[in-house]
Amino acid sequence: MPPTATLEDIKTYQQKVEKDKITPHNLPPCPRCRVDSSFFKIHAYRERRFLIITEMLIQAAYCSLVRFRCPGCGKTFTFYPDFAIPHKHYSRPTIISFAGTYTESETMTYPRAVMVDNSTPGYGQNDGTLAPSTIHRWITTLARFIDTCRTALMLLLEENPVSSICRDLARLVIGPRKYKSLRRKKQLSACRQLVVIEAVFQAAFKTSIFTKLATRCAFA
Ligand SMILES: [Zn+2]
Repeated sequence: MPPTATLEDIKTYQQKVEKDKITPHNLPPCPRCRVDSSFFKIHAYRERRFLIITEMLIQAAYCSLVRFRCPGCGKTFTFYPDFAIPHKHYSRPTIISFAGTYTESETMTYPRAVMVDNSTPGYGQNDGTLAPSTIHRWITTLARFIDTCRTALMLLLEENPVSSICRDLARLVIGPRKYKSLRRKKQLSACRQLVVIEAVFQAAFKTSIFTKLATRCAFA
């Protein structure tokens, strides 16, 4: 079964939103006027659709996301739960798992990367399934979290100065048939590094780099 946020995760988050348990403290300071995020005020709640996978069936689940506003300049910021990746409907465990499946194997193809146990997660009603091109886009997205990965790496090295992670990352290769441009090679490489860093970070700190770190790094 593909990893996914569960309906329970989404309901639990909705309850936190309703009980005013979502605070802006983990957000970075306002990039415009440097006001500390602890002064941000709630601006709005926006219902957001997530796609979760249950028994290979892709299902929609809804919860509210909180938008905070900087009192200094009025800029607004969305606070994302740790199962979410900004602007993506599928949940973080699903995105990282499929992107990892594709980038980890030198011979993997996109049509095969969407398969789990010889079938592809599907939508039920209209017979659509998870598209190979979706994985391609997820890799592009995951390649953008450069600051988050760099900070995670620093924390891992502080925790364990003799860690082999830097050597391990340097040894990763991307199969030459997977890209036609240097730009794509860099994206595949950055995505593969994120998948490795996330796994080592989870093992060391029992939490995802997306729980607090990515928020703190403004998802950069
Ligand atoms: Zn501001």
